[in-house]
Amino acid sequence: MNLILLGPPGSGKGTQAKMLVEKYDIPQISTGDILRAAVKEGSPMGLKAKEYMDKGKLVPDDVVIGIIEERLKKDDCKKGFILDGFPRTLAQAEALKRLLAKKEIKLDAVISIDVDEEEVIRRLTGRRTCKNCGAMYHIIFSPPKKEGICDKCGGELYQRDDDKEETIRARLKIYKEQTAPLIEYYKMEGLLKEVQGTGEIKEIFNRIESILS
Ligand code: AMP
Repeated sequence: MNLILLGPPGSGKGTQAKMLVEKYDIPQISTGDILRAAVKEGSPMGLKAKEYMDKGKLVPDDVVIGIIEERLKKDDCKKGFILDGFPRTLAQAEALKRLLAKKEIKLDAVISIDVDEEEVIRRLTGRRTCKNCGAMYHIIFSPPKKEGICDKCGGELYQRDDDKEETIRARLKIYKEQTAPLIEYYKMEGLLKEVQGTGEIKEIFNRIESILS
């Protein structure tokens, strides 16, 4: 199964991707996670990406396309993959199309998760991430047992710089201008499946599952 998850920041793409990984045993490929790991490592790519990420801007297309090209070469992608947070621009979608055509791989579906702007802001300003394992919490909707500490590994929880309200508004503006046009693009390709992204996490997952089966 080869999937793309599309949706604004905070739409729950990462959460749903993790549940799909469990169910279909295929890897989640999140450009955001790969970039954050590069920032943490302090690699030249990470240092360059950080400047964009902290401002809520998109990292240049050539950087993320290169990341995806390398990642798709790995053996675990042979059974399929879930792209989470890529593509985010038409240029990325076109590059992906060429890349997959060369490998003779077909996309099965593009799932677009729909959540309105105020809900996204409510979700993201309360989001806390574990510095150590990347697990995510929400101060109201899914708080950790002990404030500031990860239930899974005991790591310290922090607020991503790009989860501050001002940066979220910038990310949403960029989403509308650069990523939302992909909804039309994949509609034209006959691949788009739209899912309402509000409600219980499991409920949203059921909607996705029913589309995929
Ligand atoms: P995410 O975790 O998917 O919200 O991504 C966090 C940040 O990483 C974004 O705000 C961008 O700065 C950068 N990023 C992730 N994926 C991409 C992409 N496909 N194209 C450009 N920038 C990206």
